[in-house]
Amino acid sequence: MPDVSTAPKPLSPAQKAMRKLGLVRDIDLALHLPLRYVDETRLQRIADVRDGEMGQVEGTVVHSGVMPGARRQFKALIEDNSDTLELRFFTFFPSHQKALAEGNQVRVRGEMRGGFAGRQMLHPTVMPAGGPLPQSLTPVYPTSAQLPQVYLRRAVERGLSRAELSETLPPEALRDLPGRETRGWNLREALRYLHHPTLDVSMAALEDQSHPAWQRLKAEELLAQQLSQLTAKRARDALRAPALHTRPGGLHEKLLAALPFALTGAQRRVGEEIARDLARRVPMHRLLQGDVGSGKTVVSALAAAIAIDSGWQCALMAPTEILAEQHFAKLVGWLEPLGITVAWLTGSQKTKQKRDMLAQVESGAAQLVVGTHAVIQDKVKFKNLALAVIDEQHRFGVAQRLALREKMSENGQEPHMLMMSATPIPRTLAMSYYADLDVSTIDELPPGRTPIVTKLLSDSRRDELIERIGAQLAQGRQVYWVCPLIEESEALDLSNATATHAELSEALPGVMVGLLHSRMPVAEKKAVMQLFTEGVMGVLVSTTVIEVGVDVPNASLMVIEHAERFGLSQLHQLRGRVGRGAAASACVLLYSTPDGGRLGETARERLRAMADTNDGFEIARRDLDIRGPGEFLGARQSGAPLLRFADLATDTHLLEWARAWAPRMLDQHAHLAQRHTERWLGGKSDYLKA
Ligand code: ADP
Ligand code: MG
Repeated sequence: MPDVSTAPKPLSPAQKAMRKLGLVRDIDLALHLPLRYVDETRLQRIADVRDGEMGQVEGTVVHSGVMPGARRQFKALIEDNSDTLELRFFTFFPSHQKALAEGNQVRVRGEMRGGFAGRQMLHPTVMPAGGPLPQSLTPVYPTSAQLPQVYLRRAVERGLSRAELSETLPPEALRDLPGRETRGWNLREALRYLHHPTLDVSMAALEDQSHPAWQRLKAEELLAQQLSQLTAKRARDALRAPALHTRPGGLHEKLLAALPFALTGAQRRVGEEIARDLARRVPMHRLLQGDVGSGKTVVSALAAAIAIDSGWQCALMAPTEILAEQHFAKLVGWLEPLGITVAWLTGSQKTKQKRDMLAQVESGAAQLVVGTHAVIQDKVKFKNLALAVIDEQHRFGVAQRLALREKMSENGQEPHMLMMSATPIPRTLAMSYYADLDVSTIDELPPGRTPIVTKLLSDSRRDELIERIGAQLAQGRQVYWVCPLIEESEALDLSNATATHAELSEALPGVMVGLLHSRMPVAEKKAVMQLFTEGVMGVLVSTTVIEVGVDVPNASLMVIEHAERFGLSQLHQLRGRVGRGAAASACVLLYSTPDGGRLGETARERLRAMADTNDGFEIARRDLDIRGPGEFLGARQSGAPLLRFADLATDTHLLEWARAWAPRMLDQHAHLAQRHTERWLGGKSDYLKA
């Protein structure tokens, strides 16, 4: 009887390690490309292998044996007609002893070390002499400690031979592929070649990925990504959302008239873009980007007014409680006088209060719901949600954004979605990662803002700085002082902020210095924030909790301690907390070096970029240059598949090709399109829709 038990065999450590690296399907293995190559196609004489280089030689074992001593080891001496070579093993098996028995002819490969005692290799690879030599370069794969290179090599080889790699590009798309040479390769050939390049290859072309095999691979990857996003967009376009129209004399108009300021041209323009989307039956999926302080909130309030005017509900979700609270206060101020009920939902709410709010949301009495991610919890049931606004959308994880989408369509209808971000996405990135997202950009600040002057200052000049702060405070200004988040230790993080708080309190007698950090009870946070907002508190020391969205126009100095530890976009966001009123504002980036030495090159480059420009778009572009798209989008943690091979900065011609062909392929070769996406993205494409 054959064994019909279906219990899966437990995975070996190597198999587990492969799974962890995402190497599950044959195609995953085929697409796992070498980091570099080693040349094992030649044999050398022992005397010709230079110190510190990898070498491959053949020789006869002169003698071998286990050396006793504190560290047991196995040694063998081999010789060819040029020199002798000692092989040493600190861990060894009977197989080593057998292979290296006296008189055996062996081939060994390893790193050559010269020494007093003569030439040596530690733990070389050993095999019988005389076997065939590889005809192509040997790949070295990215791997982990639990996954030996040799094992992985065999697995990749198997995957490569079994993977289904037939052509998925329609002939017309192929003919249009940039680069005449690239057209000469198909995926199977390109992959075979990149795993086992022939000897005559230009190593430079392989390394800088200008080789046509690389180009072909990147083109296919970009196409898969464009196809997946376009599919998501079309799926969404097939859904139906309520059409929300702007009425003359309606809420939208009333709110506009009641605002204490006139909209900027840019705000008006994006407002119209949004209003046009809302009037359609297709759910809006729009990113509203604008530099810090450009006035995105009021734009979202105007959109909410349109929805509420038509009898629907709106939700606004912000990443932190403080930020949500500020929005709440602002929106209540604008909308309640117009007779609109705004509800407040957050994790820290008292049970009774929360129950009341939930009831209002469910009955529809609450027309606008503002809160933290409490807004997407299971208990929340909307009566008729038509518009969801997500502020600082990049601060939410992919999973949370997916949850929101699901929650929002609970009633069987799709709401319109407006995502807001102060971290502008450079054009190439928007084209590639947000192909299914419409983008509106506020490229103008409200009038009357004075540019922020940014200065770099060594922490050794801290006392001078504190003196200057004293002078600012005497003129009635207010100051933020931000201490960095120390990732390894929240406690350390806190003690740092606490120490600075004590230091400033002492150095600035008669000034109220406040402290704000993430571990404080919410009520206390609010009390501190209120004192600062009202101008009673002169200095607010905080960890990065104030990073997003806080709006206190009278604050005109921002000090960022250990600025070298922050990312560029984060620094820009923090800086954006000042320069919101009429007073001239400044931002001081305090940096420290471990031993009082000079700042590292990248850190200096980053901080200099901050001093050079106030333009969030320019900063985003530089941030992208310095960190690469993975870090920039914060997608590394979220598990979203990023481009593994293509580089948006240099492969723009391939990206243009992919963008042009994705829609044609979906229309005319749906089957090929599906196979192509499946091959490249497998089950991961869901994340791209978030
Ligand atoms: P952000 O885009 O960073 O979210 P906010 O929406 O918080 O910016 O707006 C920043 C400040 O500018 C707020 O105090 C807001 O009321 C004010 N504001 C917005 N639009 C205008 C405008 N057109 N004229 C003057 N002030 C404005
Ligand atoms: Mg904001």
